[in-house]
Amino acid sequence: MSAPAKPRTSVVTCPHCGRRNRVPAAAASVPKCGNCHNALPWIADAGDDDFAEVAERSPIPVVVDLWATWCGPCRMVSPALEQLATERAGDIKLVKVEIDAAPRLAQRFEVRAVPTLLVMRDGEVIARQPGAAPVAALRRWLDQALQPKEGDKQ
Ligand SMILES: [Zn+2]
Repeated sequence: MSAPAKPRTSVVTCPHCGRRNRVPAAAASVPKCGNCHNALPWIADAGDDDFAEVAERSPIPVVVDLWATWCGPCRMVSPALEQLATERAGDIKLVKVEIDAAPRLAQRFEVRAVPTLLVMRDGEVIARQPGAAPVAALRRWLDQALQPKEGDKQ
């Protein structure tokens, strides 16, 4: 057994006011800026052991970036996803998984291409995109995945 994981945090500069904030990898609510109270971009890394906590129990939909260090297109997609996570701060969370360090997740999500991108809501995969795409295509893909289904209450 490994030691209990310490709560992990990262430092995020607020896009609204420039204040640097500590943001936890996992939390029950969306992180907000301590200064201006706007939602902060929420970007976290996860692996086999903390994916459930960081991604499946997220209070907002999650974009999962399954990537690898040796993958060239991943280096193009990661900044595009970070841009979306910043544009949609408070609405989506970005969770990055390095698949070579997370064999159980690679198997669970049947990753055959990197990057593989997922949208998860309440722990369920609601959209999947194998391969890289430009930011405009990713934005459309995300909008489509998250649009209310017909019959949902407005
Ligand atoms: Zn702020």
